[in-house]
Amino acid sequence: MKLSQPDRRGYFGNYGGRYVPETVLPALDELDRAYRAMRKDRAFRRELGGLLRDTVGRPTPLTRVLRFPDGKGKTAIPRSAKTRRRGRTETRMYLKREDLCHTGAHKINNTIGQVLLARRMGKRRVIAETGAGQHGVATATACALFGLKCTVYMGSEDVRRQAMNVYRMQLLGAEVVPVESGTRTLKDAINEAMRDWVTRIRDTYYCIGSVVGPHPYPLMVRDFQSVIGLEVKQQILKEEGRLPDLLVACVGGGSNAMGLFHPFLDTDVPMVGVEAGGRGRQPGRHGATLCHGQPGVLHGALSYLLQDAKGQVLATHSVSAGLDYPGVGPEHAFLKDSGRIRYTSVPDEAALEAFHRLSEMEGILPALESSHALAYALRVCGKSPGSVLVVNLSGRGDKDLDIAGGRL
Ligand SMILES: *Cc1c(COP(=O)(O)O)cnc(C)c1O
Repeated sequence: MKLSQPDRRGYFGNYGGRYVPETVLPALDELDRAYRAMRKDRAFRRELGGLLRDTVGRPTPLTRVLRFPDGKGKTAIPRSAKTRRRGRTETRMYLKREDLCHTGAHKINNTIGQVLLARRMGKRRVIAETGAGQHGVATATACALFGLKCTVYMGSEDVRRQAMNVYRMQLLGAEVVPVESGTRTLKDAINEAMRDWVTRIRDTYYCIGSVVGPHPYPLMVRDFQSVIGLEVKQQILKEEGRLPDLLVACVGGGSNAMGLFHPFLDTDVPMVGVEAGGRGRQPGRHGATLCHGQPGVLHGALSYLLQDAKGQVLATHSVSAGLDYPGVGPEHAFLKDSGRIRYTSVPDEAALEAFHRLSEMEGILPALESSHALAYALRVCGKSPGSVLVVNLSGRGDKDLDIAGGRL
């Protein structure tokens, strides 16, 4: 098998597939056909390219950061001849600025692509599930843009915790449906969205927010997000004249990481995916699925999963809502087992430190999710002088001020 393509049944090695009710299979086949046709359709690609440029704001910059890796207090370091000379032996760290996308994160790359596809398929209604609300907002934004009806399922506990995002979705014209079953969080919202889809499959498009779900979602979402890595490749070649020595991205479901990594899979560039280490290794205290999980089925696919001995999905914790998810995309599971990508975790505390450090030293407020990748980058950057490192800054931190501000 090629390292980067699933087989015909949607498996990356042992992972992926379609673990869904039988009634959903025809809809997945329809989606698969539509997506394959779309990939070859030049008019569609042109329309998507135009939207990414004019609405999302792509290409996003690749910004070299000087003070963040250095950590030399609060005084600005003048770029003297000395620092320029030193620059050659120090780690050269670049941030891919997905925080500058419309709506403030990479998620819009995917929802614009999928909602465009929904419209092409003649669907009149788009549904989605959301945890913290970020994917719901990105889906509602794309639906507003195309005038499609949008319904977002959200656990009632999350509705309570994320009032601002609920209001945002409503402003964008979406209907937010609180889900009262189970733990009233993301996995219950997923079940409810799937139930809705089964009953209204003819006119409804189900928009999934990460490289998870039954085939072809992991493949499709990864392709829509791959614009990140494709841009980085060009930008770093122009800037440094060579490929980077390390790519780093945070992993929740895994879409921003797959988007950065995928175009580099056929090179020998090392890559690290950083999961939520939370408050410790004990079950329920983290969201580090690839580090501590076992293979299991969630959200319609086989992948690593945080589960107890009886196969029940475990609670998770992370200071960042976007990494607070018990599953992970099947392609990551495969790439972990194959050894091509290394996965590690960073605790809440280190992510918060990186959040404050980037804010103070570069004037960029990163999302707490992205702060996990930044914290890992800090950990390694002293150790390999002269190397070139690219960190995916998956989103901006304005949404996290409540949490981060608690420490000021
Ligand atoms: C949702 C989100 C994530 C986690 O999702 P992935 O699919 O793993 O990328 C990471 N960063 C930000 C800013 C997010 O909004």
